[in-house]
Amino acid sequence: MILWRDIKGTVQPFWVTLRNLLRRPVTVQYPEEQRALPVRTRGRIVLTRDPDGGERCVACYLCSAACPVDCISMQAAEALDGRRYAVWFRINFARCIYCGLCAEACPTLAIQMTPEFAFCKDDPLDMVYEKENLLIDHGGKDQEYNFYRHAGIGVVNPRGGNDDEDPPLDAKSNLP
Ligand code: SF4
Ligand code: SF4
Repeated sequence: MILWRDIKGTVQPFWVTLRNLLRRPVTVQYPEEQRALPVRTRGRIVLTRDPDGGERCVACYLCSAACPVDCISMQAAEALDGRRYAVWFRINFARCIYCGLCAEACPTLAIQMTPEFAFCKDDPLDMVYEKENLLIDHGGKDQEYNFYRHAGIGVVNPRGGNDDEDPPLDAKSNLP
């Protein structure tokens, strides 16, 4: 038995080598060759727009609260139609750990992860992105979603006027 075990132990590694000898190499010669990464890859973060071209971000601070390394900051303001927006919005990518919790927390699909990963800089200050660096001119992964067509204040339709929304309740009428 011991002899058999020794023979097997000697031959098996050669068999593994032989088996892989004719396989095509999987090494990618980056950066000359670039692999297409899955769309769910968690890379550089962007802020997206709704189908009407408006900023999706309503400056609710949920992404900032969810961020475990505290690298998102912003200042909220309200437009004349009551729509909230971020006056400034900042992400420090030098601290970001690309966990995706901010994108998970966002109720309006404003903040999204992209597969872009090659944007390192020598100076950490260059990794601080402002709103103008983050805001893109399309809806990212879901082009059709518009938060205000489903809920919220009457920006697109009057309150309660959306297809999947109930009219507002008079809370005082619920008193016993
Ligand atoms: S990916 Fe994670 S660490 Fe980066 S900004 Fe979002 S929540 Fe913060
Ligand atoms: S990106 Fe989303 S979660 Fe963050 S403040 Fe804007 S709407 Fe809220």
